Amino acid sequence: MVAGGLLPARLTFVIMAAVGVATASDAARADCGPGTFAIAIDVGHSPDEPGAISARGRAEFDFNQDLAWVLRAALHERGFVAAELLSVFREIRSLDDRTAAAAAMNAQVFLSVHHDSVQERYLEFWQPPGADTPLSYSWHAEGYSLFVSEENPFPEASLFLARLVGEELQAGGFRYSPHHAEPIPGEGRELLDAEVGVYRFDRLFVLRRNHAPAMLIEAGVIKHPDEELRLQDPAFQAAFAAAVAEGVVRYCEAFR
Ligand SMILES: [Zn+2]
Repeated sequence: MVAGGLLPARLTFVIMAAVGVATASDAARADCGPGTFAIAIDVGHSPDEPGAISARGRAEFDFNQDLAWVLRAALHERGFVAAELLSVFREIRSLDDRTAAAAAMNAQVFLSVHHDSVQERYLEFWQPPGADTPLSYSWHAEGYSLFVSEENPFPEASLFLARLVGEELQAGGFRYSPHHAEPIPGEGRELLDAEVGVYRFDRLFVLRRNHAPAMLIEAGVIKHPDEELRLQDPAFQAAFAAAVAEGVVRYCEAFR
C-alpha cells in the first residue's frame, strides 16, 4: 500500500521515466498484490445498443464480450484473480452503471474493451455469403487503438498503463491503426504515444468519470473483412489478451 502521498523511490523513478511526472494521488491508487489488485473489465456497449456492426453483420458487443472473457482468463492465469467483468457486479445499462460498478468493486484499474469502426466516408457495401441485405465494410484501417483521458483523476497513471499495454502489444507483433489521427471530422485525435498507439480522448465518459486509472482498448477494426475474421480467431484473442495482461502486470509491478 502506498499511502500518505509518499512515493517510494523506485516507483517515482519508474513513473517519471515513463511519463515525465508523477503525482502522489496516482500512486495512492495502487496497492498491488496480484490476488487483491482489482481490475475492472468493461464490456463496451450492450445487447440493446450493440455498437458497430462488422463487415459480416456481427455486433461489436459480441466481439467485446468474447475478448473480455479471454482477457479475464489471461489475468487470472497470471494470479490477478480480482480481475472481473463489471456485469458480474450489476446490470450494465448506462454509462453511469459502468463507473458505479467499478467504484463498487474498488477498481484500481479500469479496462474498457471495444472493437473499432471507420468514418462513414470510407464505407463500401457488399453482400457477403449468408447476408440478407448489403452490409458496409472498409479496407481503410486495421489494427488496435488505445485511448486515455486527461480528465481522468489519474491522467499520468492512465497514460503509464496504456503505454505499457501498447509496448506489450507491439512486442506481441500487433500494430496500431493511425486512422484516429487523420485530420478529418470525427477523428483528428492527438497521438500521445505514436510508437505504441495511445491516443488522447478526453471526453470519453467511462474514462473521465472514473475513480481509477482507466484506458479504452479498441482491439481491431471489425469493418475490415480480414481483420474481422482474425478478431474471432481464439489464438489471436488469446495472444492479444496475453499482451494486454502483461501490460497490466508490469503496471502493477511498478507500484510494488
Ligand atoms: Zn465501441
